[in-house]
Amino acid sequence: MDSVSFPYDAPVSQTLFDRASLVTPGGVNSPVRAFRAVGGTPRFMVSGTGPYLTDADGREYVDLVCSWGPMILGHSHPEVTAAVQDAVSRGTSFGTPGEGEVALAEEIVARVAPVEQVRLVSSGTEATMSAIRLARGFTGRAKVIKFAGCYHGHVDALLAAAGSGVATFGLPDTPGVTGAQAGDTIVLPYNDLESVHAAFHAHPGEIACVITEASPGNMGVAPPLPGFNQGLKDACAKNGALFISDEVMTGFRTSKAGWYGVDGVNPDLMTFGKVMGGGFPAAAFGGRADVMGHLAPAGPVYQAGTLSGNPVATAAGLAQLRLLDDAAYEKVDAASARIRGLVTDALAKEGVAHRLQTASNMFSVFFTDREVRDYEDAKKQEAFRFNAFFHSMLSQGVYLPPSAFESWFVSTAHDDTAIERIAAALPAAARAAAEATA
Ligand code: PLP
Repeated sequence: MDSVSFPYDAPVSQTLFDRASLVTPGGVNSPVRAFRAVGGTPRFMVSGTGPYLTDADGREYVDLVCSWGPMILGHSHPEVTAAVQDAVSRGTSFGTPGEGEVALAEEIVARVAPVEQVRLVSSGTEATMSAIRLARGFTGRAKVIKFAGCYHGHVDALLAAAGSGVATFGLPDTPGVTGAQAGDTIVLPYNDLESVHAAFHAHPGEIACVITEASPGNMGVAPPLPGFNQGLKDACAKNGALFISDEVMTGFRTSKAGWYGVDGVNPDLMTFGKVMGGGFPAAAFGGRADVMGHLAPAGPVYQAGTLSGNPVATAAGLAQLRLLDDAAYEKVDAASARIRGLVTDALAKEGVAHRLQTASNMFSVFFTDREVRDYEDAKKQEAFRFNAFFHSMLSQGVYLPPSAFESWFVSTAHDDTAIERIAAALPAAARAAAEATA
């Protein structure tokens, strides 16, 4: 980071950050929003339209974070905004069932074949936490297998060797999670089926479930090797455990049916968030009806939420999903492919060793010449080059995730004008990456 310069000031963001730091730990409400890994002051955004964000200093950025995935139609999409305004005008929370929840659940069930029933919650963290509890309740077993570098939200039992912010800040694990809470978590290297078989062999009849990101994006994009997800499913089926595919990031983004629509592997339970909330706090978990039937009030496994299925959030999510037809995915995929091509051309031109890894329209750039198959590989990249690249792009009006361990996200709104702005910024950013020193 020493070689990174911050080419311009952001005085209003700086003032807001100073105020925030007095009343909020680290000045942010989610660690990944901080610029600690890349240095500098986080930009406080005041508005978003289409592919652009505007910060408190009045600067506009092409947004390649898209709120970490949800904004797949771009910001302030008129039809989503209209649906939200209509919902708000009828009241914001009733604490009773409502038709919007039914319609959103039906939409999810219709899109994702393995999901026979679904329960709505308010965050991806709640979805994975509840899915794990349900798997334990259903199987009567305690142990959970997860993979290093996969992030499933800040669930106590799942924070061991997690990706995303935990990777960005190099945290081994987190204080506050007790041995008892993490003691039943078995952490294995990603993309390594042999270690999964060995774990089942070492703990016969004890493993409730395997949870994996359907295609990981939280150690940067490191997709499953061919046969990995199917191998997990088969190992679970053979050993009486449930296979949980976490599609909070990939769901309704990597295809109409998420990563399931790409690899067709049939999980027992799935988790969703981000895109299905249309920019509001809505998430879900679902799957086999016989498993979901164990949830209260149908069954004994308790799970609840005051704002679950909130009418405004469900209206936003439903409006967004209904707009996501085949043509919309073609648009996102095409924009993603163009941007990837521009990034790799610019870096190659400057002789910067890099790997551009993709999962459908999700992608990230690793500053290494080796394929990244797991968390250990991801950590070997020259992250200092990313930091220089990031700041050069930021100074030229392109907002990237402030971490080398995250996916970049594109929307249907990333049109020619936005992509040309990215293209114009890349040569200098590639040069900055080439010249960076550790
Ligand atoms: N699972 C995955 C794969 C995620 O990427 C995330 C968040 O980035 C979560 C779960 C947690 O979701 P949330 O931040 O809504 O709690």
